[in-house]
Amino acid sequence: MRVYLDQAATSWPKPPEVLQAVERFFTQVGCNVNRGGYAAAYTAAEVVLETRERLCRLFGFDKPAQVIFTAGVTASLNQLLKGLLRPGDHLLVSALEHNAVMRPLAQLVEQGVSFDRLPAGPDGRLPEDLEGALELLLRPNTRMLVVTHASNVCGVLLPLARLGAFCRAHGLWFVVDAAQTGGVESIHMGAMGIDALAFAGHKGLLGPQGLGGFLVRRELAERMEPLVAGGTGSFSHLERMPNQLPDRFEAGTLNLPGIFGLHAALGWLERTGIDAVRQREQQLLERLLSQLDGLPDLRLLGPRDPAQRTAVAALDFPGRDNGEVAFQLDQAGIMVRCGLHCAPNAHRVLGSYPQGAVRLSAGWYNTPQEMDYTAQVIKRLIAG
Ligand code: PLP
Repeated sequence: MRVYLDQAATSWPKPPEVLQAVERFFTQVGCNVNRGGYAAAYTAAEVVLETRERLCRLFGFDKPAQVIFTAGVTASLNQLLKGLLRPGDHLLVSALEHNAVMRPLAQLVEQGVSFDRLPAGPDGRLPEDLEGALELLLRPNTRMLVVTHASNVCGVLLPLARLGAFCRAHGLWFVVDAAQTGGVESIHMGAMGIDALAFAGHKGLLGPQGLGGFLVRRELAERMEPLVAGGTGSFSHLERMPNQLPDRFEAGTLNLPGIFGLHAALGWLERTGIDAVRQREQQLLERLLSQLDGLPDLRLLGPRDPAQRTAVAALDFPGRDNGEVAFQLDQAGIMVRCGLHCAPNAHRVLGSYPQGAVRLSAGWYNTPQEMDYTAQVIKRLIAG
């Protein structure tokens, strides 16, 4: 049996219409947008606009021109952090952040930006007195709070609405990394007070790799310097980047095959409904975890309660080499990700640094039989 349980890294397979849409782009469209005054270019431009509109609907936002396409969450967070923060600024981050936040921050620290981490408990959850903990860290120059919506290591969900309310009350920009939750958890930027949201097209959104983006409120977009400058196919008389959105942050040719694929994936998600997706993924993971509960020499990182997590299970096998466990799983046809998952501090919080953990993540296309098979293999490994 071949079982793909690395959906948190990238989802696979994709809905068939995603592949068909990418093929349609290459066989029937093929051109660029904003650069050609012919019918195919207008068709492509319509798909691009509709994709922005679908992303707005998904994320509770109402400004399609403020949906910016990039190469992914990493590119989006680099733009948001480096474009908004200035020397002397301070920001807060969760203790669970991915290196897509921490590495740009490390570069910014060299330029005089400083940050503090909001502490998390040993299961990754934020303090009960969240507001009190945040207040302790505030400084007069604190500009921003950046959090991942869910840990890519253990799946724990962060309380966005509460964090957003705190940011509003204290005049902070609220930036959310939705890499792990886009297309699976419900997110409403307006209701949750989110100022900018970075998304990956290729994980829960089920689109192709190499495409993501961010949705941003105008006030932030106006303060933000574009990191990349170049042609936009618009305002070509200007030798500086136009102020127009989304053009200001989309220099160079867009990833149109990717956008066609994402357009189809978002259509699939709208028809299927993210509640159904979440429910199915949770049922699959629950089926696996319930067979592992109580096993000796096995520790699940993060909360056990499915309501508090995504369909990601990070397992630590005390007394064993987790890398060896992942190798044994691979020998049995089960694809998982072992190591520190680009989030070393999350592992410190969860008590799995430096050994890392074996991460299994379920998606829409996994099956109950695959979960049963995986549980059997893990049990055999532990017994062996
Ligand atoms: N943030 C989190 C929480 C992630 O899980 C990932 C992907 O692994 C990223 C950021 C980076 O996403 P991308 O590789 O699409 O830029």
